[in-house]
Amino acid sequence: MEQLIENKLIRADKAFSEWKKIPFDHRQQLIAKAAEILKSRSEEFGTIITLEMNKPISQSIAEIEKCALMMNYYADAENILQPEKIQSEYSYSEIHYVPKGVILGVMPWNFPFWQVLRFAIPAILAGNTVVLKHASICFGSGNAIEKVFLEAGFPEGVFQNLEIGHKDVKEVLEHKTISGVSLTGSEKAGAEVASIAGQHIKKSLLELGGSDAFIVLDDADLDEAAKVGALARLQNCGQTCVAAKRFIIDEKIEDAFLPKFIEEYQKYIPADPMDKETKIAGMARPDLADDLEKQFRKALENGAEIILPLERISDNEFKPGLIRVREGNPILQEELFGPLGMVMTAKNDEEALQLANDIPFGLSNSVWTQDKERQLFFIENLESGTVNINRMTSSDPRFPFGGTKSSGYGTELSLLALKEFVNAKTILGQ
Ligand code: NDP
Repeated sequence: MEQLIENKLIRADKAFSEWKKIPFDHRQQLIAKAAEILKSRSEEFGTIITLEMNKPISQSIAEIEKCALMMNYYADAENILQPEKIQSEYSYSEIHYVPKGVILGVMPWNFPFWQVLRFAIPAILAGNTVVLKHASICFGSGNAIEKVFLEAGFPEGVFQNLEIGHKDVKEVLEHKTISGVSLTGSEKAGAEVASIAGQHIKKSLLELGGSDAFIVLDDADLDEAAKVGALARLQNCGQTCVAAKRFIIDEKIEDAFLPKFIEEYQKYIPADPMDKETKIAGMARPDLADDLEKQFRKALENGAEIILPLERISDNEFKPGLIRVREGNPILQEELFGPLGMVMTAKNDEEALQLANDIPFGLSNSVWTQDKERQLFFIENLESGTVNINRMTSSDPRFPFGGTKSSGYGTELSLLALKEFVNAKTILGQ
């Protein structure tokens, strides 16, 4: 291992031995300070995101503001990690929550600040220190985040950016200073990293891909569903794990809904990412655009029909596409991570549910109906970490976020995330 990297791991470990003793409320004050820095310089940090991965600048600034919101949530959060006294016949009868140590974050490029901070803030508030392996196109974001921690007054070594490629992750994860890993990204990367963690008995948390359903039933507000549906698919150029990827439409309203949906969809025209009016720009990397084009062709070869063609207009830009897909098309087993949506129709609620669940993933589905009983049917039976009723998916710091099936395991956000990288230590005795 490169000496520079090893030095950082040792520094993180040393920092841990002091940081774990810092009181919870003092850690919270530093988090509040870091939130203030982000919020007051959202345009500067947003520009780093846009220049690195092409997200429209208004969405990059919104990402920074959401990070600040999440950090303020943790800065004001109840301390659920205080020792708990349990009634028993023992005189000592307690649970202590002990931070694990140095946690490695392996993070993607699609939300370069949000994904990192969503993982790092609760881990650090719980008393751990963090080292980051960011996506190779996002080292600028990783360095900027490290500087924010230092400017806010966090001790050196509490958060460090490593600037390493994915081939170096194994050696870092195997290093004796590392106690656990959190990865957000593809199934392939998740499986490889989790298996290394498993071999070394280190805890892992995985937030992987999705192909969530956006189910529109016959009593839905169709205008609203059309508008929100287009945004839910095309925000961040479709590169969002919880984006709506499959539109399952009640066949009774297909003719009424589809033209409205197409009209909304066509409002997304690729433009300059630095222009504040731009709603969609290019994908993060040309090779990701190549992959999406291949998936588009694969879908068509297996019987999908074009509603709107996926039209490549530059290295990394598309006019967004929409295809009609039927059950059995192998493309349904894959995540489409770009501006290409799938439309399916269902005869009734049972069929809509069956289509929605018939995939390897389960992150955050959305159902549109005014009827309480129908809402309940989907709430109880959809196989996903989140169910949204008459709204698009978007995470909220107050609520748990995580997947089922191949979408991963573990909980991010909410108070629950504070317990992901701690050991519950039992104290018993007379
Ligand atoms: P990856 O999953 O490959 O990258 C995410 C992070 O994991 C990056 O930091 C990457 O590093 C790292 N990584 C990749 N492979 C390994 C490995 N074998 N061991 C350790 N770390 C690894 O995503 P891609 O950028 O290649 O995108 C491919 C597809 O992944 C997308 O099309 C999409 O389907 C899915 N994806 C899903 C995301 C989500 O939020 N659910 C986010 C990003 C991608 P490096 O950049 O150096 O390769």
